[in-house]
Amino acid sequence: MLSPVELARIAVLRPELRNALPALVDRVEARTGKRVHITSGLRSHAKQQYLWDHRAENPNPVAIPGTSFHEYGAGVDVSIDGGTQQDYATLADVAQNDFGFCSGYPADPGHIRLNESLSDAQSAWAQLQQQRVTIAGCVVVVGIAIAFTTSAVQRTRR
Ligand SMILES: [Zn+2]
Repeated sequence: MLSPVELARIAVLRPELRNALPALVDRVEARTGKRVHITSGLRSHAKQQYLWDHRAENPNPVAIPGTSFHEYGAGVDVSIDGGTQQDYATLADVAQNDFGFCSGYPADPGHIRLNESLSDAQSAWAQLQQQRVTIAGCVVVVGIAIAFTTSAVQRTRR
């Protein structure tokens, strides 16, 4: 089961990925009998650049900045406590066959991403950010309208 910290970590991801992760984690835990964690979700471009600059010290492969699915809310890293190769094969099986994601990278067995091209991930992410800006803008406009109405009511009452 995902912890509150892990749920917060996945909150901003693409809904197609985020909504499936609790069930995916539960299923892998049931099949392996081990705890499963989400160790990385959305990654800023700056963080990807940092990882790239320090890739010599990283045991996992690092994507060129701008080309990681993590930068577009379309990828996560999963770790299994005491996970063996067999456990990660189970993770890949569940991710691919039960949820239709891409996974099972030999050099990066905990990496899971949406099954789509990078350019599709980039445009879907841009669209989602645009929607979020619009929603935030609406919240502000409604907030101002309520504040204006409230003050108008108060003025009328005086
Ligand atoms: Zn990854």
